[in-house]
Amino acid sequence: MKKLSSFLLTIAILSFILVHSCSSEEDDTTAPNVIQTSEPEPPAPTQYSLTVTAGEGGTVSTEGGTYDEGTEVTITATPSEGYRFIGWEGCDGGIFCDDLPNNIITYYDTFTFDITSNTKIKAIYILAESSTPDLISNSGYKFYYNFSNGMPLEWITYFKNLMIYLNELFDIKPRGPEYGAIGNGDQGIVYSWVLEEGSPFEDEIGLPYCKTCVYGYKTNKSLLLGLENEEVENIGVGSNFHGYSVIVHEIFHVYQLNKSNLEEPPFSDLIPYVKYIFEGGAAALESLWIQQTFGYNYFYDQNQHDAQQAIESPELFEDPHNDLAIDDNYSNSIFLFLALVKEIQSKNNIDEISAFKKVYVDWWSYEGERLTKEEQFELIFGFSIQSFYDSLDNYSPEIQSVLPSETITLEEIFQG
Ligand SMILES: [Zn+2]
Repeated sequence: MKKLSSFLLTIAILSFILVHSCSSEEDDTTAPNVIQTSEPEPPAPTQYSLTVTAGEGGTVSTEGGTYDEGTEVTITATPSEGYRFIGWEGCDGGIFCDDLPNNIITYYDTFTFDITSNTKIKAIYILAESSTPDLISNSGYKFYYNFSNGMPLEWITYFKNLMIYLNELFDIKPRGPEYGAIGNGDQGIVYSWVLEEGSPFEDEIGLPYCKTCVYGYKTNKSLLLGLENEEVENIGVGSNFHGYSVIVHEIFHVYQLNKSNLEEPPFSDLIPYVKYIFEGGAAALESLWIQQTFGYNYFYDQNQHDAQQAIESPELFEDPHNDLAIDDNYSNSIFLFLALVKEIQSKNNIDEISAFKKVYVDWWSYEGERLTKEEQFELIFGFSIQSFYDSLDNYSPEIQSVLPSETITLEEIFQG
């Protein structure tokens, strides 16, 4: 709005100057034929500069130039041999970086947009170990893998097989820029290492703020799997499943981001974000997968403490930054997620699989007009978020009161 009003003000001032100079010219001359009787020419369109640069490892199709406001521009990034294109990074003064300077704004190598302000944009490349994807989804989304020297071969082998399974389950799709900074693009790069090694991928991903996460800020869209030594050794012994289930958790986050139509640039947070649906759902999915694969009830392991706080103050678990919410291992978020599935089932009188589908698939697939979390909750689940919170009084705070049945499979939820 600020830009629009200053634009209008500029037009107003320009019009005044034009009128004023016309009339002074009129005063100075006696010749009637110089008086303009036709409509004044519309003011020249506002022009903006576009600066396109290439980082090390590739070229760009144009260096930019000066364009009339609203001009549609297409730019293309081409990596040199041995490099891989990561994304376009927007920067100071550009339309894309009002909120997040130097953020990746799209992962597509060809990018079309309208010039609406002075814009600087840079193509980012990284050294490619391989230009051939390690895995391609049915829809064409590409995964690249990176393993540190410290990752055990057994873990790598399991990871590769699990990725094939998860890729079939979720069918992640190439997405345009409207899918948000970490939801869009047509590739995801996995970095896996053992934390004791330090930061073996510092050149590629810097020093990320998280060890296991989908990491899309500033560098590239990466899936980080920085694991403890004990997590990658002796997996499957006792209750040691997390070194594998974390893969399910993080790939599910890619699915969530890939499915949901996020904010247009400049990007805001994932909206509508409800922590117990985003994180509680991903953590519960780990347990469902472990239950299905190893016949082990990992929900008990995730349950670090009873869910009294979740029952009494569920709204605390909507926001990931709420310090008051006691949520080790997301145990209260998992409780709320599973209670939500029970309520979806009973309030809509549907079976358990259909209830899981609503919160695992329908919630993320919603592509209508942008809604608040309260509105989207009611639209997708059929009852208000407040009535869900009121219903929590009927639950006891032990995980047993919300456990799903033991025969559920992920295939039924995501593919049935
Ligand atoms: Zn997570």
